[in-house]
Amino acid sequence: EQRSPADPLTALLDRVRVRLRDLDDGEPASYIPELSRVDPDLFGLSLCALDGQVYGSGDTRVPFTVQSVSKPFVFALALADRGLPEVLARVGAEPSGEAFNSIRLEPGTGRPPNPMVNAGAIVTSSLVAGDTPEARSTRILDGLAAFAGRPLDIDEAVYASERATGDRNRALAYLMHNAGWLTGDVEEQLGVYFRQCSVLVTCDDLAVMHATLAGGGVNPVTGRRVVAPRHAQHVLAVMATCGMYDASGQWMLKVGMPAKSGVSGAIGVALPGQFGIGVFSPPLEEKGNSVRGIAACHLLSDQFGLHLMRAV
Ligand code: GLN
Repeated sequence: EQRSPADPLTALLDRVRVRLRDLDDGEPASYIPELSRVDPDLFGLSLCALDGQVYGSGDTRVPFTVQSVSKPFVFALALADRGLPEVLARVGAEPSGEAFNSIRLEPGTGRPPNPMVNAGAIVTSSLVAGDTPEARSTRILDGLAAFAGRPLDIDEAVYASERATGDRNRALAYLMHNAGWLTGDVEEQLGVYFRQCSVLVTCDDLAVMHATLAGGGVNPVTGRRVVAPRHAQHVLAVMATCGMYDASGQWMLKVGMPAKSGVSGAIGVALPGQFGIGVFSPPLEEKGNSVRGIAACHLLSDQFGLHLMRAV
């Protein structure tokens, strides 16, 4: 349960949200047609502390599709199921400096650059345990639910919309299949990836999911261990360098916390040993990151000295 509005941390989140409410740059994503139907004014901001307490302001319980914010969590599940060496043998850990849907793969090998961009995420979802695509989809849905601490569902309309228009991801998957990084039936594996992107979450869920990473893999609300501490650490490290795509360097410079964005307008942030944050606001800047989400994280980091590289 969220704390009451009288709580100081809730009041603070309210102030940040009210200050940024009128920032109206950017547009919701439209390349997945179903995503453009969203109300652009929705704006929620949640924080989950490592004692399991959730604080929030605004539209914190409105469901939206998780999109690329699924990527760190599915990477975590692949690490849990296969271990780091086997996962790194199939997907790199270097920032690409390119857009989330870039067609460019590692020169020479065609290996995907990292698990936070589409190419890498299509491969990591194929590495999750399960003998069939259905089994892998179930493992992913159950795994995301364990991070969120409650059962989750899939938005079938967004899934169908993305599957119908996902030719760029399809092209990437075929390139990686040709180079040997993606095995099995390509169309079926794409289905697993599109389903993972279509899982419905709320801002509160994002805060709890990121608090689980920040707490070394234990969900602070349920008390359940989801992944090993070293795997949570690996995920946060890759989020820190690659989570905001080709805005990752600027993000580390200004906000200084591992984060992941998605084209639904979601941003999740984890401050190791401290808390998780979830922000949701659909209008995006040109790199596919939420405009108000970025602004809210800048403000929180500045005002409270949250930057990881801060010495004093
Ligand atoms: N499902 C989206 C895609 O594959 C995810 C991209 C994103 O959130 N950046 O294009």
